Amino acid sequence: RTWGWSLAGELRQAAGRDPGRLAVIDEDGTELTYQHLLDRAERMARSMRAGLGVQAGDRIGVLCRNHHGLIETIVAATLLGVDAVLVNTGLSAAQLVTVAEEQRLRLLVHDDEFAERVLGLPAELPRLDERAREELVAGALPGELRPPERDGRIIVLTSGTTGAPKGARRPTPSGFGPLVSIIDRIPLHTRDRVMITAPIFHTWGFAALQVCFALRATIVLQRRFDPAATLAALVDHRCDALFAVPVMVQRLLEVPAPDPRPPLKVVAVSGSALPGGLAPKFMDVYGDVLYNLYGSTEVSWASIAGPQDLRAAPTTAGRPPYGTRLELLDDNGQPVANGQVGRIFVGNEMLFEGYTSGASRETRDGLLDTGDLGRLNPDGLLFVDGRADDMIVSGGENVFPSEVEDLLAQLPQVREAAVIGVPDAEYGQRLSAFLALHPGETLDPEAVREYVRHYLARFSVPRDVIFVKYLPRNATGKVLSRELRRYYG
Ligand code: ATP
Repeated sequence: RTWGWSLAGELRQAAGRDPGRLAVIDEDGTELTYQHLLDRAERMARSMRAGLGVQAGDRIGVLCRNHHGLIETIVAATLLGVDAVLVNTGLSAAQLVTVAEEQRLRLLVHDDEFAERVLGLPAELPRLDERAREELVAGALPGELRPPERDGRIIVLTSGTTGAPKGARRPTPSGFGPLVSIIDRIPLHTRDRVMITAPIFHTWGFAALQVCFALRATIVLQRRFDPAATLAALVDHRCDALFAVPVMVQRLLEVPAPDPRPPLKVVAVSGSALPGGLAPKFMDVYGDVLYNLYGSTEVSWASIAGPQDLRAAPTTAGRPPYGTRLELLDDNGQPVANGQVGRIFVGNEMLFEGYTSGASRETRDGLLDTGDLGRLNPDGLLFVDGRADDMIVSGGENVFPSEVEDLLAQLPQVREAAVIGVPDAEYGQRLSAFLALHPGETLDPEAVREYVRHYLARFSVPRDVIFVKYLPRNATGKVLSRELRRYYG
């Protein structure tokens, strides 16, 4: 066996070719070269095996924000053929207990800030805080590390926007395909300096980490996203690229732009829809550098829109990249006519390998059902309307929340907007709009309805208009519609 394309293999390759190259820069100033990062991960792996008895086939949980310790831990796991379950830092204490049990965790590595949240976990589950993790690295118990009999898998938890978090097994790449599908469309280069603010525990942030290893990039990290601190770090570290989620890009626009601007070539976002109007506003300030990737935990990235696409059509998700098939199918599995809404099916080398619960997603002819609905315009650009389950049927008419949200987001007073369907005796469902306004702004609900009526059909007009301070979001910035539903009891 060889180390292959596992995360451990990728890091060994990078360290072999470019040992002195800076791999990670943390916000506290910690800097590690590729060789140093590999050494530390190897030490941690040996200590986990000899000191804690962790072995191939076990599963460990990782509850960490973005810093070198997270990276070391998951590489250490893959060095041993151990599965690393990347735990969403937004989970509650009770959800952590369920995850630890369902995933049969053998060990949990966590940041100090979660010390209280892990208190309710079973006493027999060993937990390592930051000091204990550092001791494992320093301990360096003896023993040789050989390629394990089985690949250590990365298991990403869905955030549970639509239900309980599910563990999804990420595939191990088996060639350059996934990397080529990115660099074919996004101008990233070997040895770039890349800031990752998307959480690495989420598929998008993790994918960014894999791309960085493959490019032997220097990875700049911060534990918490803070727009002013992120902009300062982008300037200080002369970053070429930023991997973020859309809401972060929106927040960057709410603080003064540094002068001169950071020398960015690429700002790549994924994980949720780009709010309407955001792309041109962002590019007017930071240049034509924005890339919008549509994807999910199950299909990785399935389409990419570049700056020119976004200038022409600000909410487009672009086109499928190299190696990806994307089809819009109707309820009978037939391709829909051009311009019609269909269910998005995707085939590529990066499809997930099933949920840890044993459940799977429907496939047709090798294509996976994303559960999303979308359309293609005459130029072949994809527009994602959102999850089929989120579609609102009001008085027999179909309404996509995204369409109304995008329109509401264009109102100058509106900072952010979310629309949900709520049960209605007369119409089956009616639209309810939640609006967070910019500080000091006010809006009259009737004026909001009037505005929507001007642009959209009568059934798309929200009957309820509710003003809130902020929208509840998960760690990747997705609006939690179940929290909004609580408003209705
Ligand atoms: P859950 O499935 O519980 O919501 P999650 O938030 O971790 O968990 P992801 O797999 O990251 O789930 O979410 C993927 C979904 O996000 C897609 O199916 C799609 O609905 C939406 N999405 C992601 N990127 C985009 C994009 N660029 N444009 C529009 N929608 C997007």
